[in-house]
Parts: sequence; structure tokens; C-alpha cells
Amino acid sequence: MSAQIISGTEIAKTIREELTREVAELKDLHGVVPGLVTILVGEDPASQSYVAAKNKTAKNLGIHSEQVTLPAETAEQDLLDLIHKYNSDPKINGILVQLPLPRHIDEAKILFAIDPEKDVDGFHPVNVGKMVLGEQCFLPCTPHGILELLQRTGVETSGAEVVIVGRSNIVGKPIANLMLQKRDSGNATVTLCHTRTKDMAFHTRRADILIVAAGVANMITADMVKAGVVVIDVGVNRIGVTDAGKAKLAGDVAFDEVKEIAAAITPVPGGVGPMTITMLMKNTVQAAKQQANIA
Ligand code: NAP
Repeated sequence: MSAQIISGTEIAKTIREELTREVAELKDLHGVVPGLVTILVGEDPASQSYVAAKNKTAKNLGIHSEQVTLPAETAEQDLLDLIHKYNSDPKINGILVQLPLPRHIDEAKILFAIDPEKDVDGFHPVNVGKMVLGEQCFLPCTPHGILELLQRTGVETSGAEVVIVGRSNIVGKPIANLMLQKRDSGNATVTLCHTRTKDMAFHTRRADILIVAAGVANMITADMVKAGVVVIDVGVNRIGVTDAGKAKLAGDVAFDEVKEIAAAITPVPGGVGPMTITMLMKNTVQAAKQQANIA
């Protein structure tokens, strides 16, 4: 039997409708308009399109959105100065620096300079630390989106064997952490796989929930999963060009074959991707409320 397709596009649409109402209410009742600035250094086409999508989504929701584009040769100190300016700008509640940054800029130094109260990407060590401790904080957008996908699809994580492929700071490590938190959206038994894992299929076959964020097209095949697994495919791999001249995308999971075995699966595109941007908006609205002391 073919799996239920978990549509991130549909779930993101619902959350965006909720956010649109919340943003309107914030303005009407409190005179608060959430503000987001995105900062892009350089001309990487993928980064340009991500930033454009973030700004467009923000505007559609009624969020005040500013976009700063800097040349690739921008000095680290100039970028730090800009961040400090936005840290003290009351119109701006959330600051997003698009990654990756050019090599001459120390990424950690830049991310650590963002005021944790405005760190809507959830990458500042204060927010990472709070997340690990299970405290209220800004969750990183992709793991946050995965939590929402599971919750809104009614997937039970408590007691589940959750196997994650990939241990990056932006996806693998935080989602592993969230899955093991002692609360309803967690309580899972977590296994984290990476390039040094000896027998990956041994682990993936045990998964009740399999989350794959490796960046290797179609690496998870039907023989590597058990019947009834829920699959969250985070991978976005450009594998060619469509007839319309657009990038042809594939996930990390061989969708056509795995969907015949799984209970539920996210597609690529249209799965995790739309949720990531939506969670950025959710964090921005949360930031505006916190900064205005609105519960
Ligand atoms: P990353 O920083 O490159 O990390 C990849 C991780 O996967 C690493 O931990 C690596 O292990 C592991 N890995 C790579 N190949 C492997 C293999 N053959 N077997 C086992 N483990 C392997 O990537 P990322 O930033 O987490 O992104 C992962 C994928 O998700 C990419 O395709 C990216 O485009 C996509 N992504 C999508 C969204 C979205 O919103 N849809 C957001 C973020 C990322 P080692 O640590 O041992 O090197």
C-alpha cells in the first residue's frame, strides 16, 4: 500500500494563515508590527533565491521585512557593525544572516554577535543551550518545521525508535535533541548516524521514524527501511534541469520505492522546505511578542 504523503506545502499554508491572523491581531490590539531583516553577503544564486522567498513570505504575512545585500568582499567588521545596528533597531525583531558566508568571514563570530532575543534562526549558543536544556527559546527553523510536521500529522514520537541520518548543527544535532526531550513532542529513543556509522542500514531498518538530512540524493532505498516507517526527507539535491529550465530536485530518500513500504513520507520538493521558511516567520512573530512583553 502506498504511503500517506505528508504535504509540507499544505501544513505550511495552514500555519501561515494562523500567522497572518496573529500578525493582524498584534497590530490591531497592540500596535506591534513584527520586523525581520535578512542579510545576504555575496551573489550565490541559491542563497539569493532563499532570501527572496523569505522576504516575500514575510511581506505576505504582514511582517515588516528589510533585505540587505552586501558585496562578497564585505569586511567582517562591517558585517558585525551592521548586526550591532540592527540589534538596537526597535523596528527589527528578528535578524537572519544567510549562510554560507564568504570564507574570509568567521561564521561563528557573526552568528554569536546577533542578540539572542533577535536570533530567529536559533543558531546563537544561548538559544542552542536553552534548547538542549528544554527551556523556551527560538528553535532552529528546519528542526522546528519537522516537529510541526510530525505533530500536525499525528505521528506519535513517544517511545518511538527515531533514527536520524546526518549530524549537522542546523538539522541533525538539533532534531536529535528535540526528539529526546522529556515532553510530548519528544520522548523518543534516538539514534544518530553519520559518515563513520558502520552499518547504516542496520539502524535505518529499526526506525519507526526516519529523518534523513545527509545531502546525498536517493541514498535511502526500500531495502533500508521497515514496513510502516514514517519518513521525513530533509535532503535537497539538484540532480539536473527540468524542461522548463528549473533545477530538478531529489531528496535523500528514493521516494518512489520507499513510499510503497512507508506509512507516511514527505516529498521533495513540497515537504520540509516550505516548513523551514514558515518557522522563520513563526519565530519572528514570537520575537516581536517577547520584545513587546506580550504573552
Ligand atoms: P551537512 O552540514 O552537509 O551535513 C550532512 C550530514 O550528513 C553530516 O553529518 C554527514 O556526516 C552526513 N552524511 C553525509 N553523507 C553521508 C552518508 N553517505 N552516510 C551517512 N551520513 C552521511 O548538511 P545539512 O546542512 O544538515 O543538510 C543536509 C541536507 O538537507 C542537504 O541536502 C540540505 O540541502 C538539506 N537541507 C534542507 C533544508 C530544508 O529546509 N529543506 C534545510 C537545511 C538543509 P559527517 O558529519 O560524518 O560528515
